[in-house]
Amino acid sequence: MTKEFIPVNEPLLAGNEKKYLEECIDTGWISSEGPFVSKFENYFSEVVGRKSSVAVCNGSAALDVAIAALKIGAGDEVIMPTFTIISCAAAIYRAGATPILVDCEPDTWNMNVWEIESLITEQTKAIMAVHIYGLPVDMNPLMALAKKYNISVIEDAAQAIGLEYEEKPCGGFGDVSVFSFYPNKHITTGEGGMVSVNDPILAERCSSLRNLCFVNSERFVHYELGWNYRMTNLQAAVGLAQLEQLPTHLKLKRSIGLWYLEALKEIDELELPLERTDYADNLFWVFGIVLKDSFPIDARGFMSRLGEKGVGTRPFFYPMHQQPIFNREGLFIGDSHPVSERLYKRGLYLPSGLALKESDVKKVVNAVKQVLISAK
Ligand SMILES: *Cc1c(COP(=O)(O)O)cnc(C)c1O
Repeated sequence: MTKEFIPVNEPLLAGNEKKYLEECIDTGWISSEGPFVSKFENYFSEVVGRKSSVAVCNGSAALDVAIAALKIGAGDEVIMPTFTIISCAAAIYRAGATPILVDCEPDTWNMNVWEIESLITEQTKAIMAVHIYGLPVDMNPLMALAKKYNISVIEDAAQAIGLEYEEKPCGGFGDVSVFSFYPNKHITTGEGGMVSVNDPILAERCSSLRNLCFVNSERFVHYELGWNYRMTNLQAAVGLAQLEQLPTHLKLKRSIGLWYLEALKEIDELELPLERTDYADNLFWVFGIVLKDSFPIDARGFMSRLGEKGVGTRPFFYPMHQQPIFNREGLFIGDSHPVSERLYKRGLYLPSGLALKESDVKKVVNAVKQVLISAK
């Protein structure tokens, strides 16, 4: 059967997901008290090279926990990329702290670490590194700055589960790292997230913050405010099965990216993702393309034309410094980050889910070529 529409993402649930879910139903363990939660956490820690992991209900919640665990609050500044998802800036802002934005690099689409040092002040409490679309942030110079100025690093590796920076897993660098298991990520739990750390005190804080900051010795007496951000046993059952498949998922992602690269490399109108940098092989979490400025239509127009041809796409991130919600609050007024601004106007990503077949990629590539020709 031929698929009518090729969606931007379709997950792969081809391992022990059903078996482990049946185990939950058969034993009656469905809440966060069930045994799959710690199994998933422990296995996840091994995979990302961390001492402990705390499973939460989604990646945005993981960011809230990371910020609170580091006691970031009013008067503090956190340096982060403008080219990312709202969750990063929202977590900082809701905690009462101020996000300080840097632009991204035109070729890796990751935060330009060379802009960071000039932004460090007495108030800087942390740098938030967010790995974007399949390539990592250049972590060595970033970690060196954090050490030099004695500031914390939060690593958002939501898009980078299994990605390596100089052979070391992403999510293994920061003081606290966070992950998401939304269905478009490298492994999924439907909705879900993880906070991973090495420091046992931070681990304890994260697990307390996830669970309303209950105190064991005095039930219902609270000395701090947390959230109910717990992950259920059902989600963890799916997560464990997915994690067993991670090597397969990563190979697939890399293959999909290489199929696209090979098929699109001769096309003049497009800027394509880098296959690798000095420090990493691109895992192509999503396959992004950027329309050159000389091409007459922008990403919006291109996406609607691809949609008419049965191809699902998503725009690139809308930069944080242009977000109406932050501007209304008086933040980032007059800020300019031209690389990110251009990427939003000219960039989009093509279907990149794990269930994508080589024949789907061919159909997408044909549609892209047709739109390019018809628009000239
Ligand atoms: C997906 C994602 C998140 C948010 O995760 P959710 O589980 O959707 O809340 C945070 N940061 C980055 C970089 C992401 O890609």
